[in-house]
Amino acid sequence: MSENQKYSKNDSHYSKYHANTSNYNPVSANRGVKAHWISYLAVNGLLMLINLLTGFSGGNFWFLYPLLSWGIGISIHTSVNYVISRYPYKSDRGFYIHFAVILTVSVYLFLLNVITRVNYPWFAWPVAAMGIGLGEHFVAYKRIKRIESGQMVPRLHTLWYPAVVCFFLVFVDIFSNGHVNWFWWPVVPIMLVSFVIIDSITRHRENLRTRYHEHQARSRENVNFNTQENASYSQEERREVVLERKDNATQSERKFCPRCGEVNSPGHGFCEYCGLKFE
Ligand SMILES: [Zn+2]
Repeated sequence: MSENQKYSKNDSHYSKYHANTSNYNPVSANRGVKAHWISYLAVNGLLMLINLLTGFSGGNFWFLYPLLSWGIGISIHTSVNYVISRYPYKSDRGFYIHFAVILTVSVYLFLLNVITRVNYPWFAWPVAAMGIGLGEHFVAYKRIKRIESGQMVPRLHTLWYPAVVCFFLVFVDIFSNGHVNWFWWPVVPIMLVSFVIIDSITRHRENLRTRYHEHQARSRENVNFNTQENASYSQEERREVVLERKDNATQSERKFCPRCGEVNSPGHGFCEYCGLKFE
């Protein structure tokens, strides 16, 4: 097993769609999508036929439920495949895949609302909540695009977006019925979750950079630890050394981008943050 395979299974940051472009094979991926569509159309066509032959008694179009539920899966599969084949960079993929998934689920909720003949448009609530989240992702995505073009953007810059959303909610609360102060309920979790997500992403990247530079320093010192020669070390100490060596092996495969200063996952021919080609 190569170091690269070991990395892809052990590192929590690894994702089939994000980290390792070399794992993606467009030919087999397209074949997978095609096979998915054939079985989808065949099975649902059959179900529709059964529904038709047994009679739409009382307007009971039950075939719509498997058609739509399975439709979510096939729509996401198709759009993810499209996004991956079109965008090689992590930031683009992250945003467009998110966008496709939320759009699919929103259309599904809307259709479910319609076919169940509920008079209340309940679908608007989850769609609005997902829309706020997607808006935040869009702002973060635009921030990365600005960094790529060489501009400096403050770390917590993207917090302006949830802040605007919250001001809007406070405004609605004050100018609607008043005296209820319900705005605390959405405002507190929105700001808290936004801060925690933005902060943890930044910390994760800073941590990667620090570990990378520590590894570089260790390599220069050329410290060579041989467990055979140091048999007097306790098992616990030896375990630590082995773990450190594993960390070193992973770090040495990471690529430091000289343009944007980000540390990239192994297996990349280009910087996944700014697109600079590595030699
Ligand atoms: Zn870069």
